[in-house]
Amino acid sequence: MEYGRLSTTVLRVLRTSKPRQPRRWQSTTPRQTPIPIQHAFWTTGRVALFTAFTGTIAYLYGINDLSSHLRNEKPKTSTPVYANKSELQKAIGDLRSDLGDDVISTDAEDLHRHGYSEWSSINIDTLPVAVAYPKSTEEVSHIARVCSKYRIPIIPYSGGSSLEANFSAPFGGVSVDFCFMDKILKLRPDDMDVTVQPSVGWMSLNEQIKDSNLFFPVDPGPSAMIGGMVGTSCSGTNAVRYGTMKDWVINLTVVLADGTVIKTKRRPRKSAAGYNLTNLFIGSEGTLGLVTEITLKLAVIPQETSVAVVSFPTFRAAAATAMSVVRSGIPIAAMEIMDDVQMGVVNSAGATSKKWAEVPTLFFKFSGTPQAVKEHIQQVRQLAREQGAGEFEFASNAEEQKALWSARKEALWSMMALRREGDEIWSTDVAVPLSRLADIAEVSKKELDELGLFASALGHIGDGNFHASIMYKRSDPAEREKVEGCVKRMVDRALEMEGTCTGGETQCYHEVADCAS
Ligand SMILES: Cc1cc2nc3c(=O)[nH]c(=O)nc-3n(C[C@H](O)[C@H](O)[C@H](O)COP(=O)(O)OP(=O)(O)OC[C@H]3O[C@@H](n4cnc5c(N)ncnc54)[C@H](O)[C@@H]3O)c2cc1C
Repeated sequence: MEYGRLSTTVLRVLRTSKPRQPRRWQSTTPRQTPIPIQHAFWTTGRVALFTAFTGTIAYLYGINDLSSHLRNEKPKTSTPVYANKSELQKAIGDLRSDLGDDVISTDAEDLHRHGYSEWSSINIDTLPVAVAYPKSTEEVSHIARVCSKYRIPIIPYSGGSSLEANFSAPFGGVSVDFCFMDKILKLRPDDMDVTVQPSVGWMSLNEQIKDSNLFFPVDPGPSAMIGGMVGTSCSGTNAVRYGTMKDWVINLTVVLADGTVIKTKRRPRKSAAGYNLTNLFIGSEGTLGLVTEITLKLAVIPQETSVAVVSFPTFRAAAATAMSVVRSGIPIAAMEIMDDVQMGVVNSAGATSKKWAEVPTLFFKFSGTPQAVKEHIQQVRQLAREQGAGEFEFASNAEEQKALWSARKEALWSMMALRREGDEIWSTDVAVPLSRLADIAEVSKKELDELGLFASALGHIGDGNFHASIMYKRSDPAEREKVEGCVKRMVDRALEMEGTCTGGETQCYHEVADCAS
């Protein structure tokens, strides 16, 4: 800060002393009384000398300041001060009178639904104080202006499917639910893009645009919506072929905290112009702005899709096959791993008509031309055999493919259906470089088995990413400690392998660990 003040002083001195030359974009019409340059005190040499002198002082100051950090002095931070109760009431009153009574809810159930989630690994004790339901970017901007005026935190909310307290309200504040902003604004099949509002779900989007022979390939939780998917920079089962959210967003309309509305880019699929603001907002979990419009790239629906399931003698063998499939360059559409426990969950949830062997299993999705699909299946079959895999079992029709894939996608909910009274689920995920996949999968699976709790491993193995879901009683300190220890070790192991504490779903809890490492 002091360094900043010093530089400002230097600039002010230079500005007041140096004769003003017209800037490149200013008019070059001569002034009436131009100051002859040869009479100026600030010659180029003197400016250089002065700058060198002040630069040296600033450098020495900076070194000194740095050494205070090295001495472990606590950095000075200011604690934010938020609105008090009467200011909150005033803000809610302002919003109601400006936008109508129905825009703001303080109903207890509504507040609970927007600050608590059954499938979140963590829940915070506080709830938002109000929920706002805007219908347009203008209304979002108005809400932001009022919240900014009264210093009230804002928490955006779309599908509510995130898994680690992402939309929690630790300081109260106003939850902004986009449920009335759920329209596809424009589909442009020739440009292969679509502009949507934040509360369009990815599944509903694909249903609505399927006649264009296009689809949006990012597929996280079934109830996720595009606004929240931008918020978490999510992935999904298709990520191994198509990448993650950040690869599919062309531009965003964002309302900043003070109500300013910005658009991050224009509409070409490729642009290097300006700062990459779009990617700054993707994954920022609502902390940098409220996304009100999103332009997405779309992909062509493949000619043929085939879904196959194959079982393995060990979890390591399944993970090793996944690694060799990726390494051999076979362009599979998706590749998911499920352990014996999770296959049992699929069976007991009755998601498919068939009962599956309760052993480590890989789910494959192949897509492309009929010829390519056939070839890829042959190649993968060969690699799986080398790891002792059983026979490939194929979904017999599109209905069964859908059922099988949703059994994988809804695994978390199926597991929740098996909870005992008072049980909660801790879901976590890690990602590691491909060559370490089999190692981390084997050790983590062993630890989960030894926990003595209902715990399963599954995940987007094609991306070097897998998850653990552990059922436990949060109110039992011994169980909680056991689960926390297991999750922590899994994260530490991933970090030691140059991996990360999350491949997609679970930024909030672990991001500190990742940064700290
Ligand atoms: C069964 C199940 C399976 C899942 N599978 C996957 C998976 O495979 N891959 C994966 O990545 N995730 C997965 N998830 C997690 C979840 O679906 C994703 O994190 C998803 O992106 C969240 O979207 P949402 O609309 O529900 O967002 P929300 O939960 O509503 O919000 C998520 C975050 O985004 C912010 N946000 C919401 N709307 C906006 C907005 N308009 N502007 C700015 N910020 C906003 C919120 O404040 C919050 O921080 C799964 C979840 C479940 C329940």
